Amino acid sequence: MKNLVIITAPSGSGKTTLCKEILKKEDKVQFSVSHTSRKMRQNEKNGIDYYFVTNEEFIEGIDKNEFIEWNYHFDCYYGTSKSQIQKSIDKKNLILLELDVKGALSIQKLYPDQTVSIFVEPPSINDLQIRLEKRGSDSEKIIAKRLQRIEFELSHKSNFDFTVVNDKLEVATNQILEIIRNETKGVSYVT
Ligand code: ADP
Repeated sequence: MKNLVIITAPSGSGKTTLCKEILKKEDKVQFSVSHTSRKMRQNEKNGIDYYFVTNEEFIEGIDKNEFIEWNYHFDCYYGTSKSQIQKSIDKKNLILLELDVKGALSIQKLYPDQTVSIFVEPPSINDLQIRLEKRGSDSEKIIAKRLQRIEFELSHKSNFDFTVVNDKLEVATNQILEIIRNETKGVSYVT
């Protein structure tokens, strides 16, 4: 049964924005909250957007084997906790996971029969750069690093089940909702 929906994308393509829209429009979906050691942005809340921890706490989690997948990039750690995913799988809930490309590939490999993966593409690299600059949360150095990863991330597009271009937000949101509804029929929803 497919009950893990992965949204993945190059940084800045709009996966966070799209996940928020999906959660607004489909309250049956439960968001899987990842852990990170990056600084909390102004509009973010601990436990809602991420579990924000220190680098030391994250490393302790790695040592204790608490993460199903984790990455270190842009000077911070990001990961998905094992216990959280397992709880959702056990309950057969419909889970939305927002993951970078590496994380998405790992989860897909671990749960091939349970995942539906959607790769979100920016309309163009130029749009992506503009969005990252407009978001205003990263220094020029970090934006340059994010852009350097794009080629790697785009090269994995074909590993995912669906591709959605995030040009007009509402169109992309509706496309993703349709995929989720079609692909997860029969999954028991969180009430
Ligand atoms: P990601 O989570 O993939 O890094 P974000 O969701 O943070 O990307 O989006 C990056 C920036 O682009 C944000 O400032 C967001 O408001 C903006 N954005 C997202 N989707 C669109 C869209 N369809 N059109 C224009 N701007 C968008």
